[in-house]
Amino acid sequence: MSQRRVRPPPAHPELLLLLGSGLTVVLIVIIVAALLVREHASTLQAATRSTTNIAQLINADALRNVELYDLALKGLIAARQREDLAKVDANIQHLLQFDLATAAPFKGEVLMLDANGTVIADSSTLQPTARNFADRDYFQAHVNNPQAGLFISRPFRVHCECDQVWRMAFSRRVSGPNGEFTGVAVATMRLAYFDQLFNTLTIGNGSSVNLLNNRGILLAQQPLLERDMIDKDLSERPNFKRILREGSGSFQAVSAITGKERLYTFTTVGDLPLIVVVALSREDVFAPWKRAALLTSGATGILCVGLLWLTWMLRRELRRRYRAERVLSELAATDPLTGLANRRVLDERLRQEWDRAQRSTEALTLLMIDVDHFKAFNDRHGHSGGDEALRAVAQVIGDNIRRPADLAARYGGEEFAVVLPHTDAKGAMVIAEHIRSSVERLPRAAGSEGPITVSIGMSTWDKRNRQSLEALLLSADQALYEAKHGGRNRIVDAIRH
Ligand code: GH3
Ligand code: MG
Ligand code: MG
Repeated sequence: MSQRRVRPPPAHPELLLLLGSGLTVVLIVIIVAALLVREHASTLQAATRSTTNIAQLINADALRNVELYDLALKGLIAARQREDLAKVDANIQHLLQFDLATAAPFKGEVLMLDANGTVIADSSTLQPTARNFADRDYFQAHVNNPQAGLFISRPFRVHCECDQVWRMAFSRRVSGPNGEFTGVAVATMRLAYFDQLFNTLTIGNGSSVNLLNNRGILLAQQPLLERDMIDKDLSERPNFKRILREGSGSFQAVSAITGKERLYTFTTVGDLPLIVVVALSREDVFAPWKRAALLTSGATGILCVGLLWLTWMLRRELRRRYRAERVLSELAATDPLTGLANRRVLDERLRQEWDRAQRSTEALTLLMIDVDHFKAFNDRHGHSGGDEALRAVAQVIGDNIRRPADLAARYGGEEFAVVLPHTDAKGAMVIAEHIRSSVERLPRAAGSEGPITVSIGMSTWDKRNRQSLEALLLSADQALYEAKHGGRNRIVDAIRH
């Protein structure tokens, strides 16, 4: 006799559940990741677009301003080259030379230098003081290169103590009738112009707007990343080399100054040797995206964990329910006193095995077992003693059937039935004899006269007799009756008796 073990639930629905929710989680993660990647790309795109706009704005303003300076220089040169200039009054001369210079904002001095670099005309006075600028980079540039055109100097601070502001100079060469060098027209501009221009733009912390000349000299920067940045030579910096090579565009790189990654957008100002560089801190650009990404990933994480937890709970519930169902069906199939199969299962299995025997034409044997004089046993040992004995007999019967297809069942009261598929009368007789003798050898209950014994009626279906299931049952019953009549504690085969 053995209580059938509760088997684990079939893996198929559980696997489907786990696979389904696992796939859902993977899908959610993939979708969210794809959205975040797309959002990242469009954040970058928007930042590039807005920095390009800023760069273009500066570009247009600077270009217009530099043109004003150039116009002032060209006007000065043209006026100087007029032969009739000397004929008019000094005031008119001054006016003729410098009237265009007044329009330029943040204007410093506008000067005319002779071939030696000495000031010969000054926008601020009719009587220029004797100053010489032959050592200045713009003067040397025009001496050495007749094709220099509009030259933009390095930033410089005026030597005078009262004026410490940064300036830069725009200059043009003045040539004689035969193209010989006769001097330089120069206009200075306060770099505060760029600070004012850049200040009107709102960019985030850690970002900056820069103006450089094409030799890598920093002319203006807002806000200043470090002190003493103006006039710094950045030409050896890899980022500047790239900017110079590409002319305009944008890229991401680590700043040599801040050490942080920045998004550089740059453009050349017209045909001038000036480059506007807008550098946005990557941290700034992606801060909103990062916040959104953190929030989204957090929410997604919680969602996925919740989903997996629910799946787990569902799986547990499924298992529990399956076990409960199994236990219930086991209970529904088991005789509670003996643990053997009950009458319902017996009827079902007997029908199945009989049908199978019809198809396979293999023998099928049925044993009907009845405990002898059990009424008397009960009377002597009481009902609980009787129950104990029934359990012992059931145990012996259960232990003597070995094949998986064999079935031992309680038929009712102190009667049992054993179904032995693929077993002929000869084989069944061996089993029946084992059962009979084992029961006989069971330990005796205290105060009992003799051993517990059983009578067994046996009937075999085989292809020769081809009896119906009812007939098989009846003949086993009759055989049992015969065994009782024959003196009990014996086996009677329905065919042989
Ligand atoms: P025999 O079969 O040898 O002709 O005699 P018997 O005394 O066994 O015959 P009978 O069928 O008249 O008696 C069956 C008795 O089995 C009746 C009842 O007291 C007892 N019995 C039936 N079911 C149970 C049970 O579940 N527990 C107990 N303790 N006794 C049972
Ligand atoms: Mg009986
Ligand atoms: Mg009996």
